[in-house]
Amino acid sequence: VIYLYFYQLAMIFSLLASIFVIVLTWRRRGAPGAAEMIILAAAAFIWTLGYFIEANSDTLAQQLFFNNIGYIGSMSVPVAWFAFALRYTSSGRPLAGWKIALLSLIPLATVALVWSNSGHHLMWSDERLATSGPFTVTAKTYGAFFWVAAGYNYALILAGAVTLMRRLFTGTPLYRNQAIALILAVCLPLVWNIIYIFNLAPLPRKDLTPVVFVVAAIAIVLGLLRFHLLRAVPFAHRFVIQQLRDGVFIFDRGDHLLEANPAALRTLGNTRNIIGKELEHLAGLSPVLEIIRAARTGRQKMPLTIPEGGRFYELEILPMTDRQPGRHAGWLAILHDVTERQQAEEMRLELERRTQNASRLAIIGEMAAGIAHEINNPLTPIIGFSELLLNKELPPEVKDELKIIYDSARRTADVTRRLLTFARQGKPLRSLSRINEIIDATLKLRSYHLKSNGIQVITQLDPELPPTLADAGQLQQVFLNLIMNAEFAMQQAHGGGKLVVRTERQGDAIRISFQDDGPGISAENQARLFTPFFTTKKIGEGTGLGLSVCHGIIAEHKGRIYAESPAAGGAVFIVELPILTQEETPASDTVV
Ligand code: ADP
Repeated sequence: VIYLYFYQLAMIFSLLASIFVIVLTWRRRGAPGAAEMIILAAAAFIWTLGYFIEANSDTLAQQLFFNNIGYIGSMSVPVAWFAFALRYTSSGRPLAGWKIALLSLIPLATVALVWSNSGHHLMWSDERLATSGPFTVTAKTYGAFFWVAAGYNYALILAGAVTLMRRLFTGTPLYRNQAIALILAVCLPLVWNIIYIFNLAPLPRKDLTPVVFVVAAIAIVLGLLRFHLLRAVPFAHRFVIQQLRDGVFIFDRGDHLLEANPAALRTLGNTRNIIGKELEHLAGLSPVLEIIRAARTGRQKMPLTIPEGGRFYELEILPMTDRQPGRHAGWLAILHDVTERQQAEEMRLELERRTQNASRLAIIGEMAAGIAHEINNPLTPIIGFSELLLNKELPPEVKDELKIIYDSARRTADVTRRLLTFARQGKPLRSLSRINEIIDATLKLRSYHLKSNGIQVITQLDPELPPTLADAGQLQQVFLNLIMNAEFAMQQAHGGGKLVVRTERQGDAIRISFQDDGPGISAENQARLFTPFFTTKKIGEGTGLGLSVCHGIIAEHKGRIYAESPAAGGAVFIVELPILTQEETPASDTVV
């Protein structure tokens, strides 16, 4: 009699607990796996209800009928459980419809066979009323399909448990308690069911599985309340990590890589199959992992910058503590993407450099113009009178010396004229000009010297280049200067060389480059190239005004001139001119 009361009470408990689980889960129905958990609890309710009424019926027909009702529930529980496990561990991705249909095939067939059993006896035969302890029960001999259904159910329940266990051992330890609660909840009824079916315990022939569901339901409720099971938290965490622009690597206590978000994977290039491996073995696969290892072992100072794939990251290593404070669960390597900040800093710097350079050149230009004017005034009578005197009858030695005065004065006048050009005193005379033609003409002008200096000239001129408003004479002066500089540099370095002249359209600009294979330009000199009087040539070989004049002319054309010294060697001088078709003022005055 004690058994009877115990069973009755347990089943009522079980029914109430199922309802409780449904209500609680319903409140968190948005969480991953909640829908499956509700179906599972509802199925358990039907199962228990069927058995409860069966236990309280005393005709065979009635008992069989409610037993069959119970089957609807008992066949749905494993499917719901397995679907729950899949969904919970896949961050809430819903199962595909066809997968659910496939999983439901055997349960549906079983329920159909249960209800039509009298026709085929595939589920059971020899059903009769019997007494077992205090109960009147239906005794039966199980048929072939019963074992198929039972085997299938066990397989699903175990598969669900294994899915969660995998999460338990490979996932973050933070959710271990939840996984344990769940697995306990499901394994208890399973064990009990096996004991019942195979008659392993000296207990009445009354299925105890729904009773054990009380325990299961309580474990689940515990999980819901105590361990925040089914909250959206694991899913939300995952989502945030997936979306982060910062790269996140999660390692366990033993330095095994547990997880890496897409941003982190992007820094690794083509490295595959890294999850679960130890950092020690991973380090060789990519520079980023190598740096993480060095940082982890404290050989690197923090934070450090990793340039990778054109992006810049700052590395941060964070210990990960468990729910219990102070318990070490693993650690994180976070790559903060600081590319934008880095670029902005380099841009504030570049702008500063350019502004400084421009204002410095402007001051020098003004001074130079002032000096040029001051020199030009006394120079005019010196040149004029020495020229007059040269035309007179004079002793030869006087004439020779006079010639030196005259030539020197002319050279000085030439310098002042250049200084004035640099200082933008002379406005350009613009007309629609074809850059390629100017280059051809300039090279022709210089062809004899180039050839005799052993310089091979290669031109790659874009035939589609549009004409632009420019002072052809001034541009020729610029090109000539650049060609002669290259010629000199190559001649000095190895008595000849190769000059490549290229033109191409780049958006709204024409890009002209002169590339030589000379000695190139040191970084230190590069900053001073366009400054007047900067020269590395011997006295008499150069004035140091050529490039500053070029700069003045190109600036007057609203263009840009700059030099590069590629790692491969040589120097490249680049002129960029805006494509202008009518006299117009470009939005900004580009000054280098
Ligand atoms: P100059 O030719 O009278 O020295 P520039 O202003 O034309 O004056 O040139 C300044 C300096 O720039 C040169 O003395 C030389 O050091 C450097 N330079 C110019 N062109 C080249 C080049 N193609 N290769 C290497 N150095 C160059």
